[in-house]
Amino acid sequence: MTASSHGPLGRITPPQPSILLNPGPVNVHDRVRAALTYPDVCHREPEPIDLMTTARAKATAVAGGDDSYTSVLLAGSGTAALEAALSSVVPQDGKILILDNGNYGERMYRIVAVHGIAHTRLEFGWCNPIDPAEVDAALAADPSITHVGMVHHETSTGMMNPLRAIGEVVSRRGASLVVDSISSLGAEEFDMRTDHVDWCVGTANKCLEGLPGVSFVCAPRAKFEALADVPTRTFYLDLHGHYIGQEKRKAPLFTPAVQIMYAFDAALDLMIEETVPGRVARYRALAEQVRAGLAERGIALLLGSEHHSNTVTNAYVPDGISYAQLHDGLKDEGYIVYGVQEQLGNVFRVANMGQVDAKNISGFFEALDRVLAGAGVGE
Ligand SMILES: *Cc1c(COP(=O)(O)O)cnc(C)c1O
Repeated sequence: MTASSHGPLGRITPPQPSILLNPGPVNVHDRVRAALTYPDVCHREPEPIDLMTTARAKATAVAGGDDSYTSVLLAGSGTAALEAALSSVVPQDGKILILDNGNYGERMYRIVAVHGIAHTRLEFGWCNPIDPAEVDAALAADPSITHVGMVHHETSTGMMNPLRAIGEVVSRRGASLVVDSISSLGAEEFDMRTDHVDWCVGTANKCLEGLPGVSFVCAPRAKFEALADVPTRTFYLDLHGHYIGQEKRKAPLFTPAVQIMYAFDAALDLMIEETVPGRVARYRALAEQVRAGLAERGIALLLGSEHHSNTVTNAYVPDGISYAQLHDGLKDEGYIVYGVQEQLGNVFRVANMGQVDAKNISGFFEALDRVLAGAGVGE
C-alpha cells in the first residue's frame, strides 16, 4: 500500500477497500452508503425532522422499547451519547455506581468523574466477570446510590457482562440502570424491558451497521420528562434539551448530522428486515467461524467460551511475528484487524460486525496463512 504522496495541501487519495475486522466502524451495505448522496437539505425543513422522528422510532424498536419509550439522537460517536446520558440522568443529590471490568467500564467512570458527579467505582479487573452478588452488596451497603452504570459487551476484552442478572438486582434495589449497549445492540440478545434497563446507549456504526457520527439514548418517555428536575451539566450534550427539541418542538437543538442520519435510517431498515434474532444468529455463526479458524491454527484465545460475545474475538499474537507485522501484512491483503489496550498484553482482536460474510472470513484465514508463512511462523 502506498503512503500518502500528496503534499499537505494536495488531494487525498481514497483508502483501499478493506474488509473491516475491527470492532466498528464497519463495512456498510450499499443502501446505507447510497443514503449519503441524497440531495442537500436545510435541517429546519420538515424532511430532516421527519427523518429524525422515523429513525428515533426505529432505534427504539431495535432496543426493545414499546410506545412508552423513545430515543434521542446525538451528533457524535457512541461516547457522545454515553456522556449525554451519564451527565444528564444523575440528580444533584444522587450517586452512581460504576461497574468496571475493562476499557469501556473505565470510560464510564472517567465521564462521571469529569462532570463531578458523586460516584463509586467497583473495579473487577480486566477480563474478570462482574459478579451480580457484589453489585447487590454494594447497593445494600450504600443506600445513597441512585444509579448504576455498566457496559453490556465490554468490547476491549470481548466479554459479555451478565446484564439480566444485574438488571434484576438494580431494579430490586430501586436504582436506575444506565447501560452502554454500544457494541451489543443488534448483535446480542437485549431487551430494555426484560433486562430492566432504564437508559440504553447505542451508536450507528457498530452492530446496527450505519456510519460513524450519530449515536442515541433510548429510555421511557416519562424518564426523559423527569430530567427537567436534574441540573444541566453540559450545554451541547444536555439530554433533556435534546429530548424537548426532538420530541416536543420538532426542532433539533443544533445542526444534526443529517446525511449520517439518512444513512443510519437506511441501516435501521436493514436491521429491521434482517430482524434482531436473524442478525444475532448471523454474527454468532461468523464468530464461531473465526474461533474455529484460530483454533485450527493453534492460536490461543484470551477468554473462555462462556464469556464470548457474538462479535469480538481476542487472540494471542503467535510467536515469531509482532502485532505490527501481523496487522500490516493483513492490511496489504485487504483485511483490517485491531490492536488491544496495553493491559491485555500481546493480543489482537478480530471482530465480525457489519456487512461481512462467511466467504470474507475464509478469505481472511487464507490471508493470515500467507502472512504467517511469510514471517516464517511455525517453521
Ligand atoms: C465503541 C464503543 C464505545 C464508543 O466509542 P467511540 O469511540 O465513541 O465510537 C463505547 N462503548 C463501547 C462498549 C464501545 O464498544
